[in-house]
Amino acid sequence: AAAGNATEGTAADELLGGLLAPGMDRRSCRSRYELFRYFKHFPYAPSPYLLSKLRAYESLHRRCAPGTPLYADAISRLRSGHSAAAGEETCSYIVWLPYDGLGNRMLSMASGFLYALLTGRVFLAAVPPDSADLFCEPFPNTTWLLPVDDFPVANLFGLGANPDVSYTTLLNNNKISAVVSDAGGGGESNATAAPAYVYLSLGWQLTDRLFFCGEHQRAIARVGWVLLYSDLYFAPSLYGVSGEFRDELRRLFPAKEAAGHLLLRYLLHPGNHVWGLATRYYHAYLAPASRRVGVQIRMFGFGSIPADDMYGQILACSRQEKILPETSDDDSAAAAAAGETKNSTAILIASLYADYYERLRSRYYEHATSAAAAGGGGGWVGVFQPTHEEVQDTGKLEHNRKALAEIYLLSFSDELLTSGISTFGYVSASLAGVRPTILLTAFGHKVPDPPCRRAVSMEPCNLTPPSADVKCRSKEGVDGEDVARHVRTCEDKDGGVKFF
Ligand code: GDP
Repeated sequence: AAAGNATEGTAADELLGGLLAPGMDRRSCRSRYELFRYFKHFPYAPSPYLLSKLRAYESLHRRCAPGTPLYADAISRLRSGHSAAAGEETCSYIVWLPYDGLGNRMLSMASGFLYALLTGRVFLAAVPPDSADLFCEPFPNTTWLLPVDDFPVANLFGLGANPDVSYTTLLNNNKISAVVSDAGGGGESNATAAPAYVYLSLGWQLTDRLFFCGEHQRAIARVGWVLLYSDLYFAPSLYGVSGEFRDELRRLFPAKEAAGHLLLRYLLHPGNHVWGLATRYYHAYLAPASRRVGVQIRMFGFGSIPADDMYGQILACSRQEKILPETSDDDSAAAAAAGETKNSTAILIASLYADYYERLRSRYYEHATSAAAAGGGGGWVGVFQPTHEEVQDTGKLEHNRKALAEIYLLSFSDELLTSGISTFGYVSASLAGVRPTILLTAFGHKVPDPPCRRAVSMEPCNLTPPSADVKCRSKEGVDGEDVARHVRTCEDKDGGVKFF
């Protein structure tokens, strides 16, 4: 039975309007075929161009994946440093490396995969043991897993944000040089042979910020292997790199707001273990309600405030944006409505701590909802929280499985209240297809005023985009006004940028 009703947009079919390729084994990845029953919103159909691009990508991936002759050739070139003979068929790759928590990782995967689509590379994931069974294989009849033990670059998981091999270091040591213009193939472009691989340090430190310049994209295009070390959703920052990227992004995503939403729904499907956690919880606690509100509470050390203040911020935001049912002390009117499932609300709390769950649960135990409450109101309110892990423990598989289950449970919400500058919240909202209400961060430990803002789009924020001090030499086809029409400052972070 359907877990909920699709409310808008495209038909809710199991392959999500052709986004997912048919013909994969259902038992090995149940979520791939069942997710559509749980999502409440289907706001954007994939464009025909995106569909054709994905199908072409999948066949490229099958030709070039680990286990194929073309992969073996590419690995031996990486080992020897020799380049391919003229006319030889070759594949080029982007290897995703894990960095930071799960939300960060999911966003850098989506961005890296988008970059692969834009540049004709094959996307492979170097999955560490702490994430071994989190995600299913996304591409039919092939694998996206990099065989880490046989990979010629040593210590893949230990290179970090600023290794000596990063792109900028290669530039500084004249091991690679920018390619200012394609025309003629002369000039700087022939000055150095391309290295066998480049390591892109594109995390919040943004060591290789020159990546976002056209002339450096041309240099990187000549390199067979790119290793991506990032914790960012850098997709919106690709839009202003070159006219070529911009035109391709326009065709792939006529509505820019759909980019992360469609990429995440295409690429990431929780493995069967996580799917069991998410669906058992959903049916036991969330399915019975007529409306589900996800509340994600994330506090960072630099933005911490006392729990009383945080709870006050949540209630003030909820009142401002009419998210959680208001309560009333009129017991006689409320008692009659409490048995009604028609206006019932399940509030799902995701947080490392139990505190806000306890407070909200008590609120709806000790008070009835007012008949004029948000979302119709008057019915029962259940408050649920699957775990409270207390601390982030990204190195442990069991911890990450629970975190991923909660990201998906949040994405099954009708409405979302998320925490600012949290990639955990960004992924939930994009997957859900919901423009969340975002609790603003208490920068400098000051309780934010206003408490929250309604997001202009369901897109994740790129928290560390290249700043204006990155002086690109090649601005071919880049139109600043057009960029401003599609990329804007984030609601929750000055200096962050997002598609809208
Ligand atoms: P961000 O730090 O908020 O941007 O999100 P990340 O997902 O990148 O990193 C935070 C990590 O802390 C998560 O991946 C989890 O491991 C853990 N965590 C944070 N909030 C929650 C939560 O609500 N539930 C669970 N289970 N884990 C959480």
